[in-house]
Amino acid sequence: MKIARWYNNHDIRIEEVPTPAPGSNEMLVKVISCGICGSDIVEWYRLPRAPLVPGHEIGAEVVEVGASVADYKPGDRVFIAPKVPCMKCTYCKNGHYPVCANVGERLPGGMAEYIRVPRVLVQRGTYRLPDAISCDQSTFIEPLACAVRSQRLAGVHGGQTVVVIGCGMSGLLQVKLAAARDCRVIATDVNRKRLTAAADMGAEIVIDAAEDVAERIAAETGRKADVVILCTSAMSAVAQAWHCVDKGGVVVFFAVPGPDIKVEIPLNYFWTREVKILTSYYCGPPDIIDAINLMKARTVQVDDLITHKLPLNDIAKGFQLVVEGKKSIKVIITPYERIISQAH
Ligand SMILES: [Zn+2]
Ligand SMILES: [Zn+2]
Repeated sequence: MKIARWYNNHDIRIEEVPTPAPGSNEMLVKVISCGICGSDIVEWYRLPRAPLVPGHEIGAEVVEVGASVADYKPGDRVFIAPKVPCMKCTYCKNGHYPVCANVGERLPGGMAEYIRVPRVLVQRGTYRLPDAISCDQSTFIEPLACAVRSQRLAGVHGGQTVVVIGCGMSGLLQVKLAAARDCRVIATDVNRKRLTAAADMGAEIVIDAAEDVAERIAAETGRKADVVILCTSAMSAVAQAWHCVDKGGVVVFFAVPGPDIKVEIPLNYFWTREVKILTSYYCGPPDIIDAINLMKARTVQVDDLITHKLPLNDIAKGFQLVVEGKKSIKVIITPYERIISQAH
């Protein structure tokens, strides 16, 4: 089978490897759709583990199940989480699933025609897709679950003013989710096209990041924001976040500047204003279930986020589109499709 191996954003190779055989508690799935995540192109985050097969946002179909697998059968369409928490350690018991101390075997990268699903993920990380969710839409389950978790941690609820800074794919999902919860959503970005997308997807006010964003928010709403969600690693955005948050508000770092960058926090100012600062980078099982239900009920629709669909052979082009970030929002790779097109 073909897989894509990522060495860095500019060196991604298609390689031929043996198709894995599932063990008795495992299964083999073919990857119909796999999203390129914003985190897949963050080199400081990924390079320490390179070369690697990227891809953790999948929509797949079961091809073969091991003798002891009773819950799934060939033909089932599934989403599979990239890893599952143990649910037993101190962190899991306190709901901090992303930092579980006993994460078992992870899902091999989704930029491959087939994936062998390890036992722990067959048992606790696989979700059968409802008819209402296509394999392309399935690639949004994990990123939406991450947005769900960050808004859960921030206590987002209807009637609040939520500012989303950075309107790439994950920023736009935050916009959609907050709008679905009847928040007043304000979006900001440096890119006009993304601002237009944010306005189409539920943002009531969109502001060019080059403007004085805090002043515009105050002018439009009469006060500052209850929740500010950072969805870009740009340093200028951090300063903007400090200015946009109201008394009693929350700043959520959903994206962060690189590991060598020091961020100054106006702590003294925030102390007397009861401002909270949160980080959130991943999701847990309850968030995945919420994301599936939100998509199934069409409360959050995702089709308008898909700008590109490419075969596995064009994955380098897909990564380039995401790295440039100008023309694309969501780029989906269709690893299995290549075989179909070759058969004809
Ligand atoms: Zn992701
Ligand atoms: Zn745990």
